[in-house]
Parts: sequence; C-alpha cells; structure tokens
Amino acid sequence: MMEEVEAVVMTGPGCALERRAFSAPSAKPGGAVLETIASEVCGTDVHLHHGRLSGVPYPIIPGHVNCGRVLETNGLLLDVEGRPIETGTLVTFFDVFGTCGNCWHCLVAKAATRCPHRRVYGITTSAEDGLLGGWAQRIEILPGVRVLPLPEGIEPLDFMGGGCGLPTGFHAVERAGIALGDTVVIQGSGPVGLNAVIFARLAGALRVFVVGAPKARLEAAKRLGAEDVLDIGEISNSADRIAWVRGRTAGRGADVIIEASGNPAAVPEGLEMLRDAGRYVVVGQYTDAGDVILNPHRHINRRHATILGCWGYEFTHLHRALQMMAYHNARFRWRDLMTREYRLEDAGQALLARIIHGHPAETRACR
Ligand SMILES: [Zn+2]
Ligand SMILES: [Zn+2]
Repeated sequence: MMEEVEAVVMTGPGCALERRAFSAPSAKPGGAVLETIASEVCGTDVHLHHGRLSGVPYPIIPGHVNCGRVLETNGLLLDVEGRPIETGTLVTFFDVFGTCGNCWHCLVAKAATRCPHRRVYGITTSAEDGLLGGWAQRIEILPGVRVLPLPEGIEPLDFMGGGCGLPTGFHAVERAGIALGDTVVIQGSGPVGLNAVIFARLAGALRVFVVGAPKARLEAAKRLGAEDVLDIGEISNSADRIAWVRGRTAGRGADVIIEASGNPAAVPEGLEMLRDAGRYVVVGQYTDAGDVILNPHRHINRRHATILGCWGYEFTHLHRALQMMAYHNARFRWRDLMTREYRLEDAGQALLARIIHGHPAETRACR
C-alpha cells in the first residue's frame, strides 16, 4: 500500500487552510526527500493568504524556509564544498530553484534574483506538482536544489529563529555597504529588521537605531545591539520620529537606513532621516502596498542620496548567513526570536496569529 503523508494546503486567497493527504514522495535522480522538522510562518505567507503576490499557482503548500532530516537520496547529494550529505543529516535548503544562469537577467544584468525562470518553494510551486513547501510532513528536494547541512552546534530551532529574515537581512546589509563606524537606522522590527540589526553590527556599524513595534520586538532589538529604539505606537507623528533620529546624529541624519517595515510611508520618512550622501536600502516592500509622494529635490538630488532596492536573496547570502549564525549563535541567540511554535495541524492558527499581528483579514472556507 502506498504510504501517505499530510500537508496543509492554501487553496486560494482568503481561503481557509486545508489538510490534505499526499502519497509519500520518492527521490528523483539527483534529488532527495526530507522529513520535515520545522517550517516558518512568515509575512510572505500572510501576503499569499491575501493574494497580494502575483504569479502564485494556487493551490500551494506554503513554507519556503524549512528544516528537515534527509530521509532518502537518489544518487550522490553534495553540499557546496563537495562533501556528501548522508541520510539522517539535519539540513535546510535554498528555497529558490530554476534560476537559469542563461538569460538576459542572469548573464547581462547579473541579477539572478530577477531571473524570470526562478521558482520558490512554498510560493511559486503548485501543490499539484508535489510536496514543494514546508507545511507538510515531507518535502521533496528536486534535482538541482541546493541542500545545506546545518553547521555543528546549530539546531533546527536556532535556524528557524532566523528564518527567511536571516538571509534577507544579511542581503540588505550587504547591499547597504555599511562601513566601520557607521550609524544605521533600521525601519521595522520584524524578522528582517532584527536580522539587519545583527548583521549591521557584525558589518561594523558603531550605532544602530530601530524604529518599530511592538515592545517585545524592540526589546529584542536592544538585546541584539541596538543603541536605542523608537516605538511607533508611542511616537506616532512622522516629524517627531525624524527629529528623534536627527537628535541622535548631530542633526545630520544616519549614514545608512534600511527600510524593513512594509509600509510605503516609511520611505519618504526614512529619506528625511538620512544624512547627505547617505545610503538608503528598501527591502521591506515585498508586495505592492501602494504609492507615496517623494520630493525628488529634497529627498534625492540635493541630499546626494543613494537609494537601493533589494529583492530576495541568493545562495551566497543563505550560505554565509548560516555560517555567521554558527559562529555567533551564543551572542545573538536566534532561537529566542521565535514567537511561538505550532503543530502542523494548527497551521491555520499560526497564520491567524501572523495576520492579527498587523494584517487583519477574514478567512473563509473555499473549494
Ligand atoms: Zn535566468
Ligand atoms: Zn519567509
């Protein structure tokens, strides 16, 4: 008899999650099968639930950042150093696959995260194509998907405490080109913002300030090395927040600002917090949350500002962020950033908890 495994399926935007049985996958040549240990419920899953991302082939099995144990391989499975990955090994994997290395974006622009062939587990993979998302008891690793063994000393829950904010925050900090002694403001205290605090400190920022909410996240930011935090629940006026940053930077503004808030209004506000000739990185606008008015003269031209977008992450960011985690885990304790753990069958509750966290919506049963 065919073995069955359970997965949680998002059938469409606004629909209640469904538990479905799938036949247990077997590894394709060059691929593998993981027994899922943990998967993430992140802001992206909320956006998926609200139908705010284009090109999503519902029904999908969400869960793009995952941890598992290698159950089965079909042929030699190697890590990036060329070492074989045995069955039983605790691993994560780079959720992006299909990046072609052969198109205009890959070859000319060298912008692999914009390759039109790129696909992502749990986001642009249909449940009809198999167990290609982490909200399932097993995950199928397709041939060519890069598997990363968890470094020694890193347990699945340490890694999940970083989640997709780990490589995303890493990428944003790399993009920002932080210099030794820089003063950095992070707008947003979600997983990306908190990981940006960590990597900004490691990149040599002398002073890091965080503008965000709620209190617990701001306390975490302080523990991770933020010098001071601004609670947007308490200081709700934009001009006061700008004055708060300027008051801490000799009236000049910060050298670097990383926007990780998801609120379009944060962008003109952040540009007012930026010093002349500073660098501004936008990583928080993962979905289209609307337009804002910029003043090109004041915000960009006269300020001599560098404004950088930051889309997704590449294997290099995940790999290096994971090595950094292994080295610095005693200091930053990523595991403590996890808000709650849920069982697979409680995925609906987990999603709702994320939604209540600032993304209210109704869930209905759909077929
Ligand atoms: Zn390509
Ligand atoms: Zn995520």
